Amino acid sequence: MDLGIQNKVFIVSGGAKGIGRAIVEELANEKAIPVILGRSKEAGEELEAMLKSQNKPVLNLRYELSDPANCQAAIQQTLEHFGRIDGIVNNAGVNDSAGLEAGIEKFENSIKTNLFHYYYLVHYALDALKKSQGSIVNISSKTALTGQGGTSGYAASKGAQLALTREWAVELLPYHIRVNAVIPAEVMTPLYKKWLNNFDKAEEKLQSIIAKIPLEKRMTKAAEIAAMTVFLLSPKSGHTTGQWIVVDGGYVHLDRSIS
Ligand code: NAP
Repeated sequence: MDLGIQNKVFIVSGGAKGIGRAIVEELANEKAIPVILGRSKEAGEELEAMLKSQNKPVLNLRYELSDPANCQAAIQQTLEHFGRIDGIVNNAGVNDSAGLEAGIEKFENSIKTNLFHYYYLVHYALDALKKSQGSIVNISSKTALTGQGGTSGYAASKGAQLALTREWAVELLPYHIRVNAVIPAEVMTPLYKKWLNNFDKAEEKLQSIIAKIPLEKRMTKAAEIAAMTVFLLSPKSGHTTGQWIVVDGGYVHLDRSIS
């Protein structure tokens, strides 16, 4: 299927690693122009170099996104470079274990790191998105629906991202800007590895999770999250807005008695 996004410009926050990286690669495969936006220097430069070596256009912007001035600068630089923005994938996030015992400062920092930049990027890109009739995808998490325990800041941010998806879908109807969310559950990425290593028996924990994933008893691939995300960015999903799409092999919603 030709998704019809050739030469369109999409910003992917946290685009250097994990799910974001897979989205950047899928956009490049579709001949769109990805903007890698995030704080990971080496990973961002490595991905940029790889795409350039394949003659694929790309912009790599290195910013910590919890500062709104950085988000504004990133949007400005993208516009100076390409003159347009056709979509934003809000993806950068960290499951940082700021639970009820962690205290107020950690909770507030978690919300700052995980949530606020979803708003900042869309706010600063709004005029450009109105011009392009662009599309927005918010990457949330199953923790917004199931809870996880010990991660209040992250779970609250992920829940708020789902609320903003519906809120923005309504507010942006007059501009033909679509807004959807993709909800992953278990995807092996650098973030997931870090989280897993908090457990004494990390491998045992991993196997116990995998055994409970209904479809094919395996983790979701980052490329499978990316394929859904890029479809939602594209005009092929032209009448889909305000949706939360759970891409998780049935982990969250299918009957627990399935073995
Ligand atoms: P990842 O492997 O850590 O990649 C995320 C990237 O975003 C990293 O490069 C990270 O930089 C960057 N980043 C995070 N916060 C940032 C900030 N405030 N400013 C700039 N860059 C920032 O994570 P992932 O597993 O691909 O997760 C991507 C998204 O999927 C997140 O929103 C996460 O909540 C969601 N998700 C993932 C899973 C899963 O199973 N992996 C499940 C549910 C939801 P650093 O490396 O420096 O932190």
